[in-house]
Amino acid sequence: MTDTILVTGSSRGIGRAIALRLARDGFDIVLHCRRRQADAEAVADDIRALGRSARVLCFDVADREAARQALEADIEAHGAYYGAVCNAGITADGAFPALSDDDWDSVIHTNLDGFYNVIKPLVMPMVRRRAPGRIVVMSSVSGMVGNRGQVNYSASKAGLIGATKALAVELAKRRITVNCVAPGLIDTDMTDELTTEEALKLIPMNRTGTSEEVAATVGFLCSQDASYITRQVFAVNGGMC
Ligand code: NDP
Repeated sequence: MTDTILVTGSSRGIGRAIALRLARDGFDIVLHCRRRQADAEAVADDIRALGRSARVLCFDVADREAARQALEADIEAHGAYYGAVCNAGITADGAFPALSDDDWDSVIHTNLDGFYNVIKPLVMPMVRRRAPGRIVVMSSVSGMVGNRGQVNYSASKAGLIGATKALAVELAKRRITVNCVAPGLIDTDMTDELTTEEALKLIPMNRTGTSEEVAATVGFLCSQDASYITRQVFAVNGGMC
């Protein structure tokens, strides 16, 4: 039977590229989105055209009960996953004095609570498979160095690094690896307005990255070749830090 990997936030951007990459690498894919179901279904069609199986789940990762119900039902119907890529995320940028309560709460609930809400229902079924597994968590350069105007986002992405490292220790003996990928400035909907001449000056390679370049690292981490790599943060950022 082919191993299955869940990729949250795979209707577009980095998550879409990861889902396609993992399908090309031979995995069946559980796609996921919040609202753009038609976009996620289009990615599922592309994956089926590659000869792999794909299905779509839609829920808000910040909604614990919705996440639990959707994931438990999917695992009940199709079996435990080999892996999960915790990629769904948002920004709500602003200088700290201007940050609203909602800017803080929405980013923490989506990016940090979203990790707990998605990974918690998956992890015991993964352990019970008694087979190797992979968890990859999407952090950010912002979580490594702290970015101006992103106190909320940096906090959420730094929190994910801590959560990843701690979970990696707990799961190491089970042969389930847990790692972070920390992209720099990647060309997606999220960064449309952030890609300025000023921002490019901060990148030694002097260009934005592509979603496919991030997906290549995730593909490696999900492969058999990465079986002895856990509790690590992989920066994909053109030399930004
Ligand atoms: P996009 O904005 O292009 O896509 C975001 C994806 O996440 C979409 O699939 C969206 O679903 C989903 N999503 C957002 N909020 C929720 C939610 N509450 N519940 C469920 N799904 C949700 O983002 P990117 O591809 O640029 O970013 C992907 C990840 O990479 C994020 O975690 C981001 O923080 C991180 N990252 C991105 C960088 C960049 O430069 N782009 C740099 C560093 C990290 P839907 O389409 O239905 O709205």
